[in-house]
Amino acid sequence: MSLVLGAIADDFTGATDLANNLVRSGMRTVQILGDPTGKPLPEGVDAVVVALKSRSCALDEALKDSLAALDWLRGQGVRQVFFKYCSTFDSTAEGNIGPVADALLERLGGRQTVMVPAFPTTGRTVYQGHLFVGDRLLNDSGMQDHPLNPMTDADLVRVLGAQTSHPVGLVSHAVIRAGAEACRRRLGELDASGVRHVICDTLDDDDLDVLAAATVELPLVTGGSGLGQALPAEYRRKGWLAPVEDAARLAPAQGRSLVLSGSCSQATLAQVEHFLEHRPGFALDPLSLAQGDQPIAEALDFVRRQHAESPDEPVLVYASAAPDRVKAAQQQLGVARAGELVERALASLATTLVAEGVGRLLVAGGETSGAVVSALSLDRLRIGPQIDAGVPWTQASVAAGTLSLALKSGNFGGIDIFTRGFAVLEEATR
Ligand code: ADP
Repeated sequence: MSLVLGAIADDFTGATDLANNLVRSGMRTVQILGDPTGKPLPEGVDAVVVALKSRSCALDEALKDSLAALDWLRGQGVRQVFFKYCSTFDSTAEGNIGPVADALLERLGGRQTVMVPAFPTTGRTVYQGHLFVGDRLLNDSGMQDHPLNPMTDADLVRVLGAQTSHPVGLVSHAVIRAGAEACRRRLGELDASGVRHVICDTLDDDDLDVLAAATVELPLVTGGSGLGQALPAEYRRKGWLAPVEDAARLAPAQGRSLVLSGSCSQATLAQVEHFLEHRPGFALDPLSLAQGDQPIAEALDFVRRQHAESPDEPVLVYASAAPDRVKAAQQQLGVARAGELVERALASLATTLVAEGVGRLLVAGGETSGAVVSALSLDRLRIGPQIDAGVPWTQASVAAGTLSLALKSGNFGGIDIFTRGFAVLEEATR
């Protein structure tokens, strides 16, 4: 059976989040990093998620990249296109959600699309068109202070209305509670009155199921990864998607195990501490990295020695540090330079050690993950089983063979993820 769903995600971790939900709902999924043009797809894939960086960039760039991804996806023959953005509807002053949705819909020749940002499992719900994070309205949730995309209005009909010249409508919870047929009818009425974008209320997973049933025939749906959890059942119902025994199946993992941590989030600090109670680790510090590459050479030696002694055990290299140490380094070096030094060091360790036979790699930190993935020149990840919510194992091809890679952003994961993660991989690929 052919490819069913093609998604365009406006950032990297958002793409992984959606891909993870698709796999968990039974779709074999590949994530493509950046412009997919000219990249071949492997056999046996039901969904592909193209990860762009179009959330906070200039609008013309977001439009160009999104349309290039769309053209490639259409060339692959996908049945439905999914434009994925953040469940907090992260937007810039220019959009980019509204204009990108407009451009995609136009190119697809569609008349209407839905906006379903909600992800109830993580507390993101929409009621009467207003977005909530837990029990707070979006503009009172901390998102109003976001450094790149401050969200100061929770009324999504109004927010989106400012991003498009087309009318924006609402399918309210009362309609959704009445079921998929009522929902489709309401969408039809809105369409007849020229409403192109429809914000959809969503309070729980049942609402997502209703919305998936009501929108499965649309050429374009848009939203957060919650809708991605509900759509695969509808694809199966339509006969587009064959039941797969284990959509998360990966090739057998090979090579040594390594954890690289550049995240200073609280959860990561606890994970580092927990790991160090059981296994050895090497601390990197931006102040000494600023003096030269000696610490990188020492870290390499350390990892090689540990792996020679215990080839099957994971080793940790970390720059993760408590807020006072981070602040001290940032005061001396500047925030950007401190970050760059750490990212460059961890990325260089990743390339050297993967070339030397590390085949199981867990990276902590969103920015850190981005640096490692681009240093390794990865352009495609097969999504596998989840270690913890939002943190799946993935696999990529590298010169040395197959690399199993898990990318954990700051606050994700249980306290023992740096050890348990490898056990999950063993179990899943045995
Ligand atoms: P998270 O997902 O937790 O936000 P990121 O990797 O996105 O983690 O961001 C952490 C940033 O902090 C990175 O740019 C990293 O290079 C930087 N960093 C890591 N360790 C230190 C440190 N000891 N001092 C200063 N900056 C650091």
